[in-house]
Amino acid sequence: MVKFSKSRHSLAGKLILSVGLLMIFCSIAFGFVFINFERRVLVKDLVNYAGATADLINQGIQYGMLTGRKDLIQQNVKVIGMGRTIRFIRVYSPDGKIRYSSQRGAADAPPPVDFKNVDALTTTHMIVGRGAGKTLLYITPILNRPQCYTAVCHFHAAGKNVLAVLEAGFYTNDVDRVVHDNMIATVLAGGLFVLVISVFLCIILYKLVSKPVALLEAGMKRIAGGDLDSPIDINTRDEMGLLARTFNSMTRDLKRYRLNMENWTHSLEDEVKRKTQEIMKTQEELVNTEKLSSLGRMSAGIAHELNSPLTGIVTFAHLLKGRLPDSNAEAHEDLQVVIDQAERCSKIIKGLLGFSRGAGFEMVEINLNSLVEAVIAMVSHQTRFYNIKFDLQLAGGLPPVLADPNQIQQVFLNMLINASDAMNEKGAITIATRSFPIEDGRQIVETEFTDTGPGIVEADIGKIFEPFYTTKPVGKGTGLGLSVSYGIIKKHGGDILVKSGPGRGATFLIRLPAGGKGGPNTDGEREKEKKRSGN
Ligand code: ADP
Repeated sequence: MVKFSKSRHSLAGKLILSVGLLMIFCSIAFGFVFINFERRVLVKDLVNYAGATADLINQGIQYGMLTGRKDLIQQNVKVIGMGRTIRFIRVYSPDGKIRYSSQRGAADAPPPVDFKNVDALTTTHMIVGRGAGKTLLYITPILNRPQCYTAVCHFHAAGKNVLAVLEAGFYTNDVDRVVHDNMIATVLAGGLFVLVISVFLCIILYKLVSKPVALLEAGMKRIAGGDLDSPIDINTRDEMGLLARTFNSMTRDLKRYRLNMENWTHSLEDEVKRKTQEIMKTQEELVNTEKLSSLGRMSAGIAHELNSPLTGIVTFAHLLKGRLPDSNAEAHEDLQVVIDQAERCSKIIKGLLGFSRGAGFEMVEINLNSLVEAVIAMVSHQTRFYNIKFDLQLAGGLPPVLADPNQIQQVFLNMLINASDAMNEKGAITIATRSFPIEDGRQIVETEFTDTGPGIVEADIGKIFEPFYTTKPVGKGTGLGLSVSYGIIKKHGGDILVKSGPGRGATFLIRLPAGGKGGPNTDGEREKEKKRSGN
């Protein structure tokens, strides 16, 4: 719902106020000029009428004078003085005394003009008095004409210019009433005019300014509130319509930018997540590598110091065992324990040596399919693999890798021993090989070991590559197999990945970068590769 501003500070309010004031001012000025003009016209008419009436009286007086009938003059003045518009008529002698009057007792009235220089008197008029007493005075001299001084009576000498002065007073009521009525009519018409124009102005301003401005304001508030889907509905062709169209197009642009921003933010978040995972993984690898290298340095020293005494213990235990008579079965058994434990120590030391090797790697071009087959051939005669079925899915045309065959063989052996242990020496192990390119364009050769054992719980997956971490019973596991394997593969520039879950078996993926000239590297291997690829 659009709300309109009723404030006098609004554009429409200011326009209506200023136009209204202007119209009121113009109406008053126009009325004033018009009324004044009308008053002047009406007064002029009244003066003309007064002049005509004075002429009439003048003629009556002159007739009376010429015929010597003063009573006729008085009669004439009285009768004409009874007219509706005439207040009084007075005739003054040249010395300023009233000779004839339409009113009684008017002899005391002061003379209207200065009679000292009466011969220079000309016709004049003036408005005197206020309210009900307002009067138009018309004063005109009665001149000495030839018929007067040539008349038989010779009453007036020829040298006299003015014989008498006529003063006629006229009511101005009619003029005042007409002016008053017209003033009221003008004020009413002016007020009505201002009202009608204001109403029209209000309607026009509402339609052309207030409503579109309110719609624009509501639209801007919606945008400020984040709603970019509701365009402003103004379809006019005027400036407001243009403003609304520009505003709507700005809103569309804003929406597009917001979507882009959101997309960028999401991709940035994904990128940050990916990078964080990469950093964490690298950090873990660094920690492991650091552990392995310090373990390597330490184990190299220990192995060097312990190898000779252990060899001595085993050799001398065997010698002692040979010297003992067969009847001393108990001593034989004890010596066998010494030999077993010493050999176990040797095994651990061999495992530890895995950390210290590296610089002395013999890197040759090897085919991982052949290596897998060799390792299977080696273990299949061991009792712990009797009840295990091997499923080989070796890819044809596998590129060679540059690696130390003994080290990689040890890694594969560790994988098979762990799988056998996890399955209690009963189940199936699938070994698959494949190659594929990675993001940086390098080719990777992957060897996969999947068993049908109990798998590894999520919480343990992060720990299994740590040195000495084992879940096997004491005496069976050393916790070095996977950490040594990890170290070997890392030194080859590769990686070990594990995928597992409880009850799903475990899958180890050993990835090594392809290297060398490419293709199987011996005649026998080439023959086998041909068979694998079916050629
Ligand atoms: P060890 O074999 O001496 O225990 P490893 O480093 O080879 O040492 O293995 C560490 C641990 O990883 C094992 O004790 C076992 O818990 C787990 N593990 C390794 N391979 C498997 C597998 N195929 N299935 C289930 N668990 C495994």
